[in-house]
Amino acid sequence: KPMEDRITDIGPRKFDEFLPPVIKKNFGEWDYHEILEPGILVHVAKSGDKVYTIRCGGARLMTTSHIREMLEIADKHCGGHLRFTTRNNVEFMVDDEAKMKALKEDLASRKFAGGSNKFPIGGTGAGITNIVHTQGWVHCHTPATDASGPVKAVMDDCYEHFTSMDLPAPLRISLACCLNMCGAVHASDIGLVGIHRKPPIIDHSVLDNVCEIPLAVSACPLGAIKPTKTELQGEKVNTVAVNENRCMYCGNCYTMCPALPLADKEGDGIAIMVGGKISNRISEPKFSKVVVAYVPNEPPRWPTLTKTVKNIVEVYSKNARKYERLGDWAERIGWEKFFELTGIPFTHHCIDDFRDPAYYTWRQSTQFKF
Ligand code: SF4
Ligand code: SF4
Repeated sequence: KPMEDRITDIGPRKFDEFLPPVIKKNFGEWDYHEILEPGILVHVAKSGDKVYTIRCGGARLMTTSHIREMLEIADKHCGGHLRFTTRNNVEFMVDDEAKMKALKEDLASRKFAGGSNKFPIGGTGAGITNIVHTQGWVHCHTPATDASGPVKAVMDDCYEHFTSMDLPAPLRISLACCLNMCGAVHASDIGLVGIHRKPPIIDHSVLDNVCEIPLAVSACPLGAIKPTKTELQGEKVNTVAVNENRCMYCGNCYTMCPALPLADKEGDGIAIMVGGKISNRISEPKFSKVVVAYVPNEPPRWPTLTKTVKNIVEVYSKNARKYERLGDWAERIGWEKFFELTGIPFTHHCIDDFRDPAYYTWRQSTQFKF
């Protein structure tokens, strides 16, 4: 539309402008859907119309050439339409079975130079769909681990569960690269959370120039920061002091003050949480619990992390009953048995507060001290 005809230039256009015609026609009038095979769904409308969807694994960071190839596929088979899922999968939709078969063949024929699938089909039902994750070292300022790197390494190891539906139930893995957890790790079957293990390093030489000191003080949820003065090259300068016993390494102060960084090569790493879900099938929704307090950052392939996650997935796969989510299974057999079967050592970090029996509860946050 010409600029003068637009009511506003803020915000996206109305969503239904982007719907494929068959979805627009049957909006709100769908009868049922089925998963025909891993990654392929059919939705049937009351009118008898059908939509076949092919879901392909994607990544949160994609090259423009990869996106252009997706658009070319969408133009060729789907009238120019495609959709991204919340887990960064891409879905191609067509309105009859013959078109679906041609699309599937085309997708399967597209390979990277090394021979692996550019558009792996899967991510539905009782398997592992793509990992929802945060920004990591590429974009954010407080990460304790990367996002795309460990996610790629973990998914490569779990690939066979993406292209099949061979697990007892859906298994959702999420990754957040700091305690702010913008990756929904708190309610995932397996949650990977970046954790810092050291308090902020104070750069007294620039602090008063780059920060509003009252803002830095009020940013701390634990009241661990107070204003102070220190001597620097014979001069008294305004700065802050951090009560290290009180600090829980959350990084909130760094959000407000770039002179309080807490990223640290040795201190940073990943905690693994298990057993959360948002489904109410079998049992009520639940939060994930810490089972491994610290795994080091080991770019580029994160071998300790991938081995630990793979082991949890395989032990669950072998032992759980059909339809049991990871947390349901661990609760049925008892969490002691979970640790025994997976061989993961149970440590005091798995308990909220080991000093007072009144607080002997399972840890559901990663705000713990090392
Ligand atoms: Fe940034 Fe934390 Fe979100 Fe990662 S989880 S993107 S570090 S706010
Ligand atoms: Fe406070 Fe968190 Fe900063 Fe520690 S890292 S001083 S707890 S804001």
